[in-house]
Amino acid sequence: MFYKSTRSDEKVLSAQAIINGLASDGGLFVPEAFPQINLTDIENMEKMDYLQQAEFILSKYLTDYSQEEIKQAVAKAYNKDAFGDKPVELKLICHCANMSALELWHGPTFAFKDMALQLLPQLLTTAIKKTGKSEEIVILVATSGDTGKAALEGFADVPGTRIIVFYPQTGVSDIQKLQMITQKGANVNVYAVKGNFDDAQNGVKKIFNNVQLAKEMKEKGYAFSSANSINWGRLVPQIVYYFSAYSQAIQNGNIKLGDKINFVVPTGNFGNILAGYYAKKMGLPINKFICASNSNNVLTDFINTGIYDRNREFHKTISPSMDILISSNLERLLYHLTDGDTKQIANWMEQLNSDGKYDIGEKYKKQLQEDFWGYWVDENDTSKIIKDLFESHKYLLDTHTAVAWKACQMYRQLENDGYPTIILSTASPFKFAQDVLKALEPQEEQINNPFEALIELSDISGLKVPIAMELLAQAQVLHDQVVEKEEMPSTIKSILRL
Ligand SMILES: *Cc1c(COP(=O)(O)O)cnc(C)c1O
Repeated sequence: MFYKSTRSDEKVLSAQAIINGLASDGGLFVPEAFPQINLTDIENMEKMDYLQQAEFILSKYLTDYSQEEIKQAVAKAYNKDAFGDKPVELKLICHCANMSALELWHGPTFAFKDMALQLLPQLLTTAIKKTGKSEEIVILVATSGDTGKAALEGFADVPGTRIIVFYPQTGVSDIQKLQMITQKGANVNVYAVKGNFDDAQNGVKKIFNNVQLAKEMKEKGYAFSSANSINWGRLVPQIVYYFSAYSQAIQNGNIKLGDKINFVVPTGNFGNILAGYYAKKMGLPINKFICASNSNNVLTDFINTGIYDRNREFHKTISPSMDILISSNLERLLYHLTDGDTKQIANWMEQLNSDGKYDIGEKYKKQLQEDFWGYWVDENDTSKIIKDLFESHKYLLDTHTAVAWKACQMYRQLENDGYPTIILSTASPFKFAQDVLKALEPQEEQINNPFEALIELSDISGLKVPIAMELLAQAQVLHDQVVEKEEMPSTIKSILRL
């Protein structure tokens, strides 16, 4: 199977798509067809464990990898030390409403990004071997919190790679920062950037487009790659858990084989929800995707109007991993909606770049609405649903999953749709302990020390603080450097001795 650019006729095999990250025309790589899975396959998947399910789905897409290569990569990624016995777990929360949570945060950094970022380094190093590339791969990451730590965990001490993470000095939670600055590994570098997430992200984008730097890198035997969700190697692992969720729902007796279900996805860069759309295109019986946003509601408006308009205020919210105004992976959806009209996509992306907006028109909007329903949730309602659900069902949501839960309730109310529904739960509530606590006890004073917050949350909820988070209190700070955004290129040069 080949992977096509969304903006031109450029096409490559999956190993090359994973090494390159982006197409050379700036487009994203998309599979040229969706492999089909029928109900018998789904029935067979019920008997598989998560690793076997991952091998099965991945082998449909990564046709230039051998079965053995895929098996090895999956085994290394989803090992018991990193994920325990169950990498993903479906829990039925509201029996009468048939609402379940798919917990995707049982990995090393307690956010769903581990599902992809534990596997990407394996797929990438295998790709380098297969294609005979000799360069050392330098992974550059700009992060608003979760991606940075998950990428560091994934790439730490992976041979043939280095990883350099830039995070905004004041833009991440205390726990997220501690997770990053205490990261061990001989090939890891972490820097705070004076500025916000956009400053860090723009700095990284400039470095990717710096032709002179690329030349110097090549001479010294280095090449850049990306661990962001524009990389196909990050998207494909996420398709698997939609199938796993469906099999688990059958096993739990929530549905019968062939029944349609809904998925609700707390969305930022549109990576997670797009992976679900791919699962549907492959044949998984899915009715609707509910695309849940926080106050950065650009996707809700897009689904309702067909107009994507990023010209609006940026809000810092208590669900920071969804604070985003340009959802990169939407470009892939547009490609599929238009049946691969690369000229049209290139044109819309050009408009987004120059005017900050584009309009897909009535026909494509209707098509979009067949699969997606959008809703956004403000800070107040996000906190309220955390408290409500804990009081009614003793189930504790993190701030991102709370946005999805509320959107799900509103969808049922407004659209009168009673399909069994699975809400993707994207982070452990402990990762955002201070805001979750505040939601549970709005009248109490905010606890400023993150470790006190962990203990308090554990006392209230009866859940155990994850050991790795507890250990952060004593972990040694290994990365305390702070740089100006202008210094990002020279920082990289000095790390790589260019
Ligand atoms: C990254 C992230 C999201 C958003 O996922 P996208 O794939 O960017 O849409 C939601 N919740 C959490 C906790 C995240 O870390």
